[in-house]
Amino acid sequence: MPVSTDVKLPKSHPPIFPDRCVACRAKSPGSIYRAGTNAIGWWTWVFMAFGRRHTVEVPACKPCRGQMGRQRWLQLSVNVVVIAVGVVLAGSLLEWYQGPFKRWLTLGVVLVCLLPVFLWEIFFPRPFDMTAFSDEVDYEFRDADYAAEFATLNQPPAEE
Ligand SMILES: [Zn+2]
Repeated sequence: MPVSTDVKLPKSHPPIFPDRCVACRAKSPGSIYRAGTNAIGWWTWVFMAFGRRHTVEVPACKPCRGQMGRQRWLQLSVNVVVIAVGVVLAGSLLEWYQGPFKRWLTLGVVLVCLLPVFLWEIFFPRPFDMTAFSDEVDYEFRDADYAAEFATLNQPPAEE
């Protein structure tokens, strides 16, 4: 199952990446993919909380970089379309209801619509993704070997 491998690091720690393309693992890829935190994740739409943006530069060869950029836009478009469909659907489903929970019911319908997208993102992860928390960042790799190499390079100083 191609589920991503996650490496958790403190946010203050600048990550060191192996000198290989994060997608195809070519050595010395010579270019960089600038990745930002999930400002476009489904939960963003739920909580409407963007938080502080965390950006890293990930080694990626030119073709892979282009592909990762396109995947990101595809994901964004799919999210936007599904949310729009969910809102319209909720509007027609909840036409009869004018109570105080309408907002939450609408949110529930949108979330149900987003569930397949969410599962798709889990089971078909992109080569690299990350999720930032208040003081930790999850670096998510599709390639388990790359993740292991990354984890070794970023071993925390002996404090445990
Ligand atoms: Zn590549």
